[in-house]
Amino acid sequence: MSEAYDVIVIGAGPAGYPAAIRAGQNKLKVACVDEWKNFDGTYAFGGTCLNAGCIPSKALLESSELWQRAKHEFSAHGIAIGDLTLDLPVMQKRRASIVKTMTNGITALFKANGVVGIQGHGRLLPGNRVLVTGADGAEKTLQAVHVVLASGSTPVRLKTVPHDGHYIVDSWNALEFTEVPARLGVIGAGVIGLELGSVWRRLGSEVTVLEAMEQFLPIVDAAIAKEAQRHFNKQGLDIKLGAKVSAATVAGNAVDVRYSDAQGEHTLQVDKLVVAVGRRPFTEGLLADGTGVRLDERGFIEVDEHCRTGVPNVWAVGDVVRGPMLAHKGKEEGVMVADLIAGHFAEVNYRVIPSVIYTAPEIAWVGQTEQQVKAGGRAYKVGTFPFAASGRARAMEAAQGFAKIISATDDDEVLGVHVIGPMAGELIGEAVLAMEYSASTEDIQRTIHAHPTLSEALHEAALAADKRAIDGINR
Ligand SMILES: Cc1cc2nc3c(=O)[nH]c(=O)nc-3n(C[C@H](O)[C@H](O)[C@H](O)COP(=O)(O)OP(=O)(O)OC[C@H]3O[C@@H](n4cnc5c(N)ncnc54)[C@H](O)[C@@H]3O)c2cc1C
Repeated sequence: MSEAYDVIVIGAGPAGYPAAIRAGQNKLKVACVDEWKNFDGTYAFGGTCLNAGCIPSKALLESSELWQRAKHEFSAHGIAIGDLTLDLPVMQKRRASIVKTMTNGITALFKANGVVGIQGHGRLLPGNRVLVTGADGAEKTLQAVHVVLASGSTPVRLKTVPHDGHYIVDSWNALEFTEVPARLGVIGAGVIGLELGSVWRRLGSEVTVLEAMEQFLPIVDAAIAKEAQRHFNKQGLDIKLGAKVSAATVAGNAVDVRYSDAQGEHTLQVDKLVVAVGRRPFTEGLLADGTGVRLDERGFIEVDEHCRTGVPNVWAVGDVVRGPMLAHKGKEEGVMVADLIAGHFAEVNYRVIPSVIYTAPEIAWVGQTEQQVKAGGRAYKVGTFPFAASGRARAMEAAQGFAKIISATDDDEVLGVHVIGPMAGELIGEAVLAMEYSASTEDIQRTIHAHPTLSEALHEAALAADKRAIDGINR
């Protein structure tokens, strides 16, 4: 007889492991199967996010930012520290130990919530059975009432830029460099390319970012993108727009990158080249013939708004389905599915999903950009507030950027909030809560914000939307 479960989750990334934990909390018998292996060959729960994405990148962003501040900004505080030395092995050890602590934490959470964690490959068979192949190659078939597919995503590779994991690398390799490359090339000026470019630029690399599109950061509000580009240029990130890479070849200890732009053909020589051109859904080996689970033309598993695949009791969540490839979006989907399976009410509000780019200054937003609101044709008002006028930002020596709120003229609905500045990723939480609870702009105006805090910038931006800002000039 095969082992039987109420729920089997395939994938223990930020979409899969919360689904398993919530299923356990709902008193369902649950197993979570994951095949992630680190470079040293060890299994680890947590998926891309904990092992090769959100967490290690933020660890290095924090360390490199401290290095940058110590080197260039402490003197403004009257702190002289003389010669600084960078100990990259220690920095990398810290990154690795944070990852280990967090991934071990999932094992502990599984135990606490009655989840059976299984390390190995999972394959959905017809009839809601899952074939598990363990580390030793042994196979067993598990039977489930419900199966949740959470197999995530993988970096897009370019045929003309052959990955070798040493000179031509992906984002995961770029988080584990053991030396600071003197010259670093990054293909792609998206979120991951900018974050990785920032880390290595701060630590001393000469960084060139090649972006095929003419427009910088088209996903963010245009005013924020313009401000960001100004800061990144000042930091020495050489971002080349409209630069289409045609080939990259390893020659000796370097990589020759060929690209063209409006000025013609160019060659760039770098010591490492990071390909950060996006991620694609990962479903290799996931679905046996005859399961009935459908993929769309881009390889995403097709689901409805409740993450049902259309095959009875088979669900899919996270990066492997439509929507932004973000850990918190996957987490909400995983939790929603586990609650729906248990017969509870649950939904994901796809209109209110925050995004953050952890550069310096940070960039964060929720809702529509001004260009989207304009295209939609609804009359709107805009309020902005510069961090230059924030006492707290000044005290932090981080008075860069601004907060911006876009609201409907007719009923005062908050349509979008955009922040570029210190701790923008933390500040956006207030805007997310406001939008989730349908707060009006006036509600934010009437909410007391502690002084002096960075959050006052959002308060003042809301006031500025009605030309009632106190600490800024109303235009
Ligand atoms: C460098 C980088 C930085 C990022 N930073 C952020 C950030 O700051 N914030 C944010 O929100 N997002 C960030 N992301 C994106 C985030 O990592 C993903 O959105 C998130 O990990 C998706 O979660 P998931 O559970 O859907 O998939 P994944 O995290 O990819 O997890 C899927 C898991 O399923 C396993 N698996 C796949 N197929 C099988 C199978 N057949 N059998 C068993 N196991 C299987 C995989 O091995 C993996 O462990 C970043 C990504 C990268 C690469």
